[in-house]
Amino acid sequence: MPALKRILLKLSGEALMGDDAFGINRATIVRMVQEIREVTELGVEVAVVIGGGNIFRGVAGGSVGMDRATADYMGMLATVMNSLALADTMRQEGITARVMSAIGIEQVVEPYVRPKALQYLEEGKVVVFAAGTGNPFFTTDTAAALRGAEIGAEIVLKATKVDGVYTADPKKDPNATRYARITFDEAITKNLQVLDATAFALCRDQKLPIRVFSILKPGSLKRVVMGEDEGTLVHV
Ligand code: UDP
Repeated sequence: MPALKRILLKLSGEALMGDDAFGINRATIVRMVQEIREVTELGVEVAVVIGGGNIFRGVAGGSVGMDRATADYMGMLATVMNSLALADTMRQEGITARVMSAIGIEQVVEPYVRPKALQYLEEGKVVVFAAGTGNPFFTTDTAAALRGAEIGAEIVLKATKVDGVYTADPKKDPNATRYARITFDEAITKNLQVLDATAFALCRDQKLPIRVFSILKPGSLKRVVMGEDEGTLVHV
């Protein structure tokens, strides 16, 4: 029996790149979708928020020198592209998915309507929330916290390339160790970056736990939903 019934999975745009320099790596997205399928087959309700950093970011790369709000809207549109790619890969892998956008773009995807999202989840469909929060100056981490709280997810699962929260950057410090569990307050005191500050504050206020783990490790999402100690749990 899975330990979790409804999850909000946050995938960064960069995770879709695999070893490529930008864009969507086919083998990588298929592998991620297969991980998602494993947990849907257990009856877990899955909502996904995907980033856009593999295509465009409002604060880096091609956006330097641009009006920030305009650049952020471009970033949100990048998340729509990733959401479409993800949902299409899900279709190919036998998962029924629905994309809902925080920005009106009806010819492409349906708008985000909370009761409809809840209905889809209850029907066992995977819901992909596109266009972040729909507002510039925010990130998809914040969208994950927001939608997670709205749909009553039990946890926000942040899939990254690193398999948890470490005492220091494991790429720079060979003595860095991974926290198995940490409280919100400890993470603040130790100045650990789990989600961006707005997203972190929202989860803390709503007592919505966060688990940081690596989706690149085969079977990790399944282990997480089965309640095994994978990555780092941030809790109240
Ligand atoms: N973005 C935004 N508002 C949101 C979510 C995203 O303006 O609510 C923009 C922002 O420019 C951001 C880009 O979309 O840089 C891509 O999202 P993010 O950087 O969170 O993607 P990730 O790092 O997860 O790939």
